Amino acid sequence: MPKSKNKKELLQNPKGTRDVLPFDAVVWQAVEEKAREIAEYYGFRPIRMPHIEHTELFTTSVGEATDIVEKQMYTFRTRGKDSLTLRPEGTAPIMRAYIQHGMRTWPQPVMLYYSGSFFRHERPQKGRYREFGQFGLEILGAEGAVADALIIRLFMLVFEELGFKKMMVHVNTLGDKACREDYRKDLVAHFRKKQNYLCTECRRRLKTNPLRILDCVEEKCQEIATDAPQCIEYACDACKEHFREVLEFLDKASIPYFLDHKLVRGLDYYSRTVFEIFTETAEEKKEEVPVEVSESADSESADIEGGESKEADAPPPKKEEKPAHKEEGRPLALASGGRYDSLAYDLGIQEPQSEEEEAWKGAVGGAIGLDRVVEGLLSQKGKGIKKENPKVFLIQLGPQAKQQSLLLLEQFRKNRLSVASSLSKDNIKNQLGFAAKLGVSYSIILGQKETIDNTVIVRDMETGMQEIVPQSKLLDYLKKKKKK
Ligand code: AMP
Repeated sequence: MPKSKNKKELLQNPKGTRDVLPFDAVVWQAVEEKAREIAEYYGFRPIRMPHIEHTELFTTSVGEATDIVEKQMYTFRTRGKDSLTLRPEGTAPIMRAYIQHGMRTWPQPVMLYYSGSFFRHERPQKGRYREFGQFGLEILGAEGAVADALIIRLFMLVFEELGFKKMMVHVNTLGDKACREDYRKDLVAHFRKKQNYLCTECRRRLKTNPLRILDCVEEKCQEIATDAPQCIEYACDACKEHFREVLEFLDKASIPYFLDHKLVRGLDYYSRTVFEIFTETAEEKKEEVPVEVSESADSESADIEGGESKEADAPPPKKEEKPAHKEEGRPLALASGGRYDSLAYDLGIQEPQSEEEEAWKGAVGGAIGLDRVVEGLLSQKGKGIKKENPKVFLIQLGPQAKQQSLLLLEQFRKNRLSVASSLSKDNIKNQLGFAAKLGVSYSIILGQKETIDNTVIVRDMETGMQEIVPQSKLLDYLKKKKKK
């Protein structure tokens, strides 16, 4: 039996969830619209997946030893005794849908976008919720580095066009599964030597998911992670080449990035490229952000080729040298993602058997955290979001006028003329006051007499001049006024 709630609790939304009220919801929609517009322009198509999936989809793909699976999933048994989970992320469901609906036989790559709610049982705080929105982009059936770069580029475009400044991409390569085997061994050996200094959680991670120690928030663990072996040193030639190409694409697109050797993302399905995108909030802009920015394609290429990056020799960044936008001293990413080439195999699909099948190999994607982006915009007073106010207000006086006004409004809507009105207020003074507050250019007054005559009174809100116009000519009349 669920715990019973008292009346006061009943009227509160559950912890970690939020109501997005109208003003903020407008910004939310504008962000989604911007992301959708850019995604569609670049050939991505929409997909909608269920909010619930079989629990095993996540345990087998995201990985048993990850925070998501260990601690954060909302899992429940159905009456039929199935175990279902509220989706904590979108990549595994996308791959499930891709396989289930035979999209591997479609012309490749298949480029998909989605927007919706995801659920993780996390400790709620600003920018971290238990139900949160993500806008995701996924490219399936693409092995080339251009796909990784396209995902990053499009997220950056969305942020740029929404008015975000000083964006920074943190990027790393995890190599493929084979490269990671040796890396994992050496990493465990490194941390084992200092395991007494690790936090309790990381001592456990040493056995279950040692890569996660690299991004532990505890200061002592961070210190020990500073001189840990770096993934790039273990990457095979093909993985290094792939990473080099990704960085070259970023250079060509003038996207600032930081080679973050501690970025591992912790989910089992990632291979090769992983990335996170950060920005500063409005008030944090005063501080400089001393993260390293690439200088040229050549300098970065040389780093990768030689397997010795500049950052490998440089002193590790001090804690406060990380970009702003923090949670427990750590920045919060606005978007993140990576490549998941082996996810299909993890889900039981055989490796391609013919050249034809090779076409669906490789996948990469990521998601924008909508809550954080909207919060970022609202902290800058909705910067970058322009919403056109209606130019006309329709005033109706009396029941007949209200009925007729519905027909008029429909005509306006069909002609894409944005009109505001107030269905409830009868008083002309109130309605004119409301129209003035909205700053419309004209008010259209529909009273008892006008309803019978099939006319309206058009009032110029600036001069106060009024004119009687037949309803049949109203649209043309307003269009002419608009042109002037
Ligand atoms: P992930 O699925 O972990 O790669 O997350 C993608 C993006 O979603 C992150 O970069 C965040 O911006 C956002 N995000 C992830 N978890 C949360 C959360 N609990 N609350 C709000 N936003 C989140």
